[in-house]
Amino acid sequence: MRDFISVQDLSVAEIKYLLETADRFRTHDYEISKQLFAANLFFEPSTRTKMSFIVAERKLGLEPLELHAEMSSIKKGETLYDTARTFEAIGANVLVIRHEADDWMKELNEKLSIPVINAGAGTKDHPTQSLLDAYTIYQEFECFKDLNITIAGDVKHSRVARSNAEMLSKLGANVYFTGAPELMDESLGYPILTLDQAVEQSDVLMLLRIQHERHHGFIHAAIEYLEKYGLTVERERKMQNHAIILHPGPVNRGVEIDSSLVECKRSRIFNQMENGVYVRMAVLTKQLLNWGIIHDDQIKKCDTIERKQPIRAM
Ligand code: ASP
Repeated sequence: MRDFISVQDLSVAEIKYLLETADRFRTHDYEISKQLFAANLFFEPSTRTKMSFIVAERKLGLEPLELHAEMSSIKKGETLYDTARTFEAIGANVLVIRHEADDWMKELNEKLSIPVINAGAGTKDHPTQSLLDAYTIYQEFECFKDLNITIAGDVKHSRVARSNAEMLSKLGANVYFTGAPELMDESLGYPILTLDQAVEQSDVLMLLRIQHERHHGFIHAAIEYLEKYGLTVERERKMQNHAIILHPGPVNRGVEIDSSLVECKRSRIFNQMENGVYVRMAVLTKQLLNWGIIHDDQIKKCDTIERKQPIRAM
């Protein structure tokens, strides 16, 4: 795999390698002993993904470069390719890119001589989100095989839904969708459950935000949406004892989930955010290693004290 663009390009062995590497980064500090720059080019809003990439880069000892799209030459009409080439020319060693176009990577057309990491592509792909979700699920269940995982909400416009359905089914889970009929995407080929079935049968209920910025005409009052398609307190009570709730964020409190459930016992929403740092450290190092920009002996373990118990080998 040249660039880190899509879950489609990842084999099960590669996913497992990345999850194991993330687990090492969670339990120990590592640092790369070489000056390297990571450019973070975000053309769409981001809190969790952008900040966790920056924390991941700093933890590894990389120097983050940040583009403020609103203040940059993008505003003067510069193309994504020219912006990316500029960062390459001034010394960036890896590019992390988020853009609203589904296929923004085609514009780069593999013409760069540094690795590119996809931090979100339109409605199509969000591979690092899928890795952090998979890692959070693995922390809980220590397996994927035959887990019932339902992705609930705005499937049609969600890159998280697409990437996650693909990654989790590759790993052996049973993936389902649920939500308002106009927000489903039957072409993806996953079974669609009623919300009641999903609530009662799922080991993992993954809620999605309504992607208002990507569609028009689906306007529900928040309270009406919550009652019809969201996770209310009443529905949460019907979930299996061991079942967990995920949400990639940002959460619309009181729309897809009752506000009081965001931090309830079965919510792993903030664990997902923490895990985002470790999986992004894993992806950054994998890409730098693959491209020969660093070698194994340049990744130095900084401490000998285990911070947390690692989960068993994957
Ligand atoms: N943060 C996720 C994404 O970038 C989910 C969302 O925005 O709803 O796709």
